[in-house]
Amino acid sequence: MSFVLHGIGVSGGIAIGHAQLVSHATLEVAHYTISAEQVPAEIERLAQALRTVQKELESLHSAMTSGDAPAEFGAFLDVHWMILTDPTLAEGPRRMIAEQRCNAEWALTQQMAVLVEQFDAIEDPYLRERKADVVQVVERVLKALLGKPGAVRPANAEEQTILVAHDLSPADVIQFKNHHFAAFLTDLGGATSHTAIVARSLNVPAVVATHNARALIREDELLIVDGARNVVIVDPDGSVLTEYRLKQGEFALEQKKLRRLTTTRATTLDGQHVDLFANIELPEDLERALESGATGVGLFRSEFLFLNRDGLPTEDEQFEAYRRVAAGMEGKPVTIRTFDLGADKHKEGLDGLARVAPNPALGLRAVRFCLAEPRLFLTQLRAILRASHHGNIKILIPMLVSASEIDQTLALIARAKESLREQAIPFDAGIEVGGMIEIPAAVLAIGMFTSRLDFLSIGTNDLIQYTLAVDRSDDAVSHLYDSLHPAVLKLIAMAITTANKAGVPIAVCGEMAGEPRMTRLLLGMGLRNFSMHPAHLLTVKQRVLASDIAKIKPMVERMHRTDDQAKLTALLDKLND
Ligand code: PEP
Ligand code: MG
Repeated sequence: MSFVLHGIGVSGGIAIGHAQLVSHATLEVAHYTISAEQVPAEIERLAQALRTVQKELESLHSAMTSGDAPAEFGAFLDVHWMILTDPTLAEGPRRMIAEQRCNAEWALTQQMAVLVEQFDAIEDPYLRERKADVVQVVERVLKALLGKPGAVRPANAEEQTILVAHDLSPADVIQFKNHHFAAFLTDLGGATSHTAIVARSLNVPAVVATHNARALIREDELLIVDGARNVVIVDPDGSVLTEYRLKQGEFALEQKKLRRLTTTRATTLDGQHVDLFANIELPEDLERALESGATGVGLFRSEFLFLNRDGLPTEDEQFEAYRRVAAGMEGKPVTIRTFDLGADKHKEGLDGLARVAPNPALGLRAVRFCLAEPRLFLTQLRAILRASHHGNIKILIPMLVSASEIDQTLALIARAKESLREQAIPFDAGIEVGGMIEIPAAVLAIGMFTSRLDFLSIGTNDLIQYTLAVDRSDDAVSHLYDSLHPAVLKLIAMAITTANKAGVPIAVCGEMAGEPRMTRLLLGMGLRNFSMHPAHLLTVKQRVLASDIAKIKPMVERMHRTDDQAKLTALLDKLND
C-alpha cells in the first residue's frame, strides 16, 4: 500500500530505491553474505569488537575497585569476563564467517542461540540463569560491531539502496561515506544536527524527523525520497514513479548546468567580490570541495578524525591529515577548527579524561573540553602548526564565550610554537587564529573577540540553538528552530556590522551560509565570506551572481526594523524575487 511520510529534508535531490533497515539502538542485526576476499577483514572486525568490550569491562572493573560499588557488581563483571574470554564465544562465529561467509553480527547471534540452548539444558537453576549473561555479553559485542564500519550491508551502486534508521549518530553517518547509498531517512534528528550535516556532505537526499519511518517501512520496500519537499513516498504507484523519474532527470540537468559556474568568480552585479569556501569533515572531502570551485576551506571539522576509531589520533596522524588538506588546496586558505567533541559528537573512551556533563550541549564541549584536557589540545595544536608549513592554514576555536578562554587558548598556541622552535620544526609563525561566534554572549560582547583574534566565523547552527534554547538535534522541538527569528537575525547582523567596523574579517560557516534563500539577506548584512558544504556552493554562487547589493540593502534594513515574523518571511520572499 502506498503512503507518504513527512520529515525535514536536510539534503536536496530525489532518490528512488529499495529500503535497507538498520537499527543502531535496538541492536537488530543485519544479515548479509560477504565475499571470500572480505573474510579476513570480517574476522578482524569481530576480533576488534571483542577487544573493545574487553577494554570496557576492564575500565568498569577499575572504576568499581576505586569506588564503593556493591560486591555483586564485581561478581557480575567476573562472569561477563569469563564468557567474553571463553574461546567458545568467538571460535564458532569465526568458523561461520569463513565457511558460511556470513557477516560477523549474524555469526555471533547464531552462536548466541547455540550457547543459550546449552544453558537451557543445565539442571542447576543458578547456572541456567547465566544464559542472560551470555545474551548481555553478546549484546555488548554487537554494539561494538555496530560502531565499526561494515555494520551495514554494503550498498550496490546499481541497486539504489535507501537506508532507514530510527536514529543515527554523526559517527555512524560519516562511515557511510565509503558506501554508496542513494539516500537515507531517520525517525529522529533536527535540520542542523551533526547527523544531518554529515548527511549533507554525502551529497545524497536525506530526510530526518520522519518519526515512524523505521517502524512503517519494510525491508526492501520501494521508496522515493524527495529531500527538497521533505517527503518520503513508500511503495509508490506507477504514475507517481514516472513523475519522480522525470523530476530526477530535471534535477540532474539543473546540477549539470550549475557546474558551468565552477570557475566563475563570485561577484555581485554591482561588482562586490564574495568568498565562497567549503566545509569539510575529513581530508577525503577535499576533492568535492575543489570540484565545487571553493576558493578555500572555511571549516574543517577536525573532530571527525577522532570518531570511529580505537584511541585518539596521534600528533603525526593529525599532522598528515592537515598537511594533506593544506597541500591539496595549493595555497588557498584552510581553516582548521580545533576539535569540537561533546554534545552529539561523543567519543567513546574520553569519559575518563573529562567528565561528560548531564546537559552536554551546555557542558564540557569544544574549547571547554580542550582547555580541561590541555595535553590533547597541545597535541592537536602542534599538529596544525607543523602542517602550517605546508600551506595556508588558519586555526579556528569553537564555542568561545569568555576572554579568559581566548587568552588561555592563545597561551597554549604560544606554548606549542615554543616547543616546535625548541625542536627546530618549521611552522608558520604568523598563523592566524580566529574564534567562532556561536553563543549569544559572544555577539553581545564581541569586542573581546575583535581585540584578541585575527578573524571570526559565525556558527549559526549553534547560535540559533543557544539563542532560542532549542536543541538542534531534537526533532520534538525542531518546529521552534527558526533561522528567521528576529533575535537570531539581530545577533547575526550585529556580529557582522561590528566586525566589519573593527576591520576583523568575519565569515558564516553554519548551515545558513549554504541556504540560497538566505544568501541575499547575509549579503545585505555586509557578509562577504560564506563557508558551506560543497553541494550547495554553486547554487549560492548563482544567487551571488544575480544579486545587486545596492538594491538589497534597503530591504534588509527594513527587515531589521521589524520583529513581526510573518512580515520578515514576506520581506525575505520579496528579497529573493
Ligand atoms: C555551527 O555551530 O554553526 C558550526 C558551524 O559548527 P557545528 O555545526 O560543527 O557545531
Ligand atoms: Mg557549532
